[in-house]
Amino acid sequence: MPRCAHTILEGRDLVVEYRIRDEPVRALDDASLTVARAEVLGIVGESGSGKSTLGLALSGALPREARIHSGEAYVEDHPVSGTGERALRELRRRRLGFVFQDPIGTLDPTARVGRQVRWALERGAAGRSRSTTSDDVHALLAQVRLPEPRAVARSYPHQLSGGMAQRVSIAIALANRPAAVIADEPTAALDASIQAEILELLVDQARRHDTAVVLMSHDLPAVRRYCDRVAVMYGGRVVEEGPTARLFENPAHPYTRALLASALGREQPGSRVEAIPGQPPVLRAAAAGCAFAPRCDSVLPDCSATRPEVHDVDGVRTLCHLPAVPVHRKDRSHA
Ligand code: ATP
Ligand code: MG
Repeated sequence: MPRCAHTILEGRDLVVEYRIRDEPVRALDDASLTVARAEVLGIVGESGSGKSTLGLALSGALPREARIHSGEAYVEDHPVSGTGERALRELRRRRLGFVFQDPIGTLDPTARVGRQVRWALERGAAGRSRSTTSDDVHALLAQVRLPEPRAVARSYPHQLSGGMAQRVSIAIALANRPAAVIADEPTAALDASIQAEILELLVDQARRHDTAVVLMSHDLPAVRRYCDRVAVMYGGRVVEEGPTARLFENPAHPYTRALLASALGREQPGSRVEAIPGQPPVLRAAAAGCAFAPRCDSVLPDCSATRPEVHDVDGVRTLCHLPAVPVHRKDRSHA
């Protein structure tokens, strides 16, 4: 089927299982999501909801113990399931970048930073005649606002602070001008005082090159600030997804409402922080109905038995049994 030219990554009805000692964990239970060219997309949800697994499935980077049980994932026009491991690795190298939580652990401890940046640049230059110079390496390190690029290039990763190492990781992830960068909690391990700077840098650099960013994060204020669109995950599904402002101002899914109340309540003095009662599920098989039903404050008789369908109201797609309420009508009723 022809796919939209603006779609960089796409997952359709993905079911992914991890198998450890023969006991399956269903990390994705019919997850669908698309990532468009140059957009910054946030993925949020409690721990275990499937954010990292979805990011890895969409980019053809699932670990060995994971298996795509059904559904499809595409990197641009390439179906992940129909592409061999070698070709997939090459595709990831050419078209994608990755930034993880622990930058020092991600970099090669045995090679100086300059060499690693050079490798990243040369991977992108494969097939082109130009060779990479030290100036190219230093220019790239300067672009990620490292104050002394020459000194950094001579260092080993363990000699850098976490923030400096994450800047190097961002430089490496973006060196090839990839179509998308998958950033899985890229600031969670960093000092709070530099988290905003690092996210700002990542988004700014990506936007310069029309690179899409998929940002998995528990930092909802940051997602609200930097992302164009947000996907909310629960129980291995994307339960709500839409433009950031609309989704934050008018969440339709009871889980999104609960998540925002619990995460953003802390931000506003005087407002109530409401912990979401109960625990997120660990699925062994497909959920019979809505996985959030046992914790939902708006539960209907159908919710535990029937899987909800998507409804789309003003660009916000919600997976819920509650009747769809157009955002503008809801606004008026509150006025
Ligand atoms: P977090 O916010 O903690 O990073 P997440 O939303 O990224 O969580 P995932 O890491 O995708 O969630 O996990 C989804 C489910 O899959 C969880 O039940 C988790 O325990 C399980 N899981 C994830 N990775 C593995 C793995 N390598 N082996 C076995 N189970 C896994
Ligand atoms: Mg994760």
